[in-house]
Amino acid sequence: MLPSLKADVCVIGGGQSALAVAYFLRRGSIDYVVLDDQPMPGGAWQHTWNSLRLFSPAQWSSLPGWLMPPDTEEYPSRDHVIQYLAEYERRYQFHVHRPARVSSVRRSDAGLLVESSQGRWLAKAVVSATGTWRKPYIPEYPGQSLFQGRQLHSANYRNSNDLQCKNVLVIGGGNSGAQILAEVSQVCNATWVTLEEPLFLPDEVDGRVLFERATARWKARSEGRPDPAPIGGLGDIVMVPSVKEARARGALHTVRPFSRFERDGVVWPDGSFSPVDVVIWCTGFRPALDHLDALEVHESNGLVATDGTRAKREQRLWLVGYGEWTGFASATLIGVMRSARETANQIAQFLSTIREGSAS
Ligand code: FAD
Repeated sequence: MLPSLKADVCVIGGGQSALAVAYFLRRGSIDYVVLDDQPMPGGAWQHTWNSLRLFSPAQWSSLPGWLMPPDTEEYPSRDHVIQYLAEYERRYQFHVHRPARVSSVRRSDAGLLVESSQGRWLAKAVVSATGTWRKPYIPEYPGQSLFQGRQLHSANYRNSNDLQCKNVLVIGGGNSGAQILAEVSQVCNATWVTLEEPLFLPDEVDGRVLFERATARWKARSEGRPDPAPIGGLGDIVMVPSVKEARARGALHTVRPFSRFERDGVVWPDGSFSPVDVVIWCTGFRPALDHLDALEVHESNGLVATDGTRAKREQRLWLVGYGEWTGFASATLIGVMRSARETANQIAQFLSTIREGSAS
């Protein structure tokens, strides 16, 4: 059965990364379509907890072409980000189809076949911008299946309303762990479990400084110079107001991991037992790449080998927004611009070689 739909470029995913790519494709008058499985704009931001705030001020969290308007507070709320992304989409009238879930991308003589819940697309080039929210990562602990308490990942945490006076473990030492610990420790008996002492950035260091450091590193690397940046990367904890407030309350105390789960709690290395009602895993994510399985481009570590954002084992495939392996700070609003622009330029070149090839 021939594909019913065609586009020069098919962008899979409709979050900030996809919109940044669409901005540059549109600017280059390249024929593209964006397929997003969410019913509304906003990507993963729609699924974060209610009190989440950006770790950079609005103007340091902007996509290409349009500065994020300031929020009422210095660090914008997740609702403000969702509104910005929805407005950004409307402003540039991107060709977004949603909800359109892509189940697979396959090779064919005529191009790449993209199977989606809204039909099959034949594309000359594909950009995967599906983010990580769909792939929360939970490490294994002995006895986990015995534990009868509630477990949830930060991807599914919304607020602390149902945690009053409970014994809660918050596991993970990054920004999610710090911000969720800061919130839940106000209403319950919270214990923050981290593999090592978390790295809290100085109060004056926020996302803009981190972006400047990532840019300095990116520049040095592209010029073959050694890394200039002092410690401090996007995984280190930015002292946003809620985390500062928790520090003032003495709540930012961490403990090293327990030895094992039991039915209604955990046992620590010294053999002592603590009752636990709820575990909140703030243990990060993995890239959502299952839809690329048929292309067999994955490496043993689950990532896709790329040259910048272009897949090494499929020259018609680009990957944007997954973090450092697809470009410095590429998993941030301001950081994704560089790799989105590079991707659109490479695709423009690629399409013109196809045109020249077919013309000759
Ligand atoms: P997503 O936002 O996840 O969008 C991907 C879209 O693709 C989603 O709509 C998804 O449903 C869809 N999709 C997935 N699979 C398919 C499929 N098979 N078919 C169709 N559609 C699909 N970034 C900042 O810039 N500043 C911050 O302050 C900041 N703070 C953060 C704090 C926390 C706690 C976390 C977890 C992240 C933070 N980030 C921040 C990072 C930012 O939220 C993410 O990196 C960003 O959402 C990634 O954007 P994306 O477009 O790549 O992916």
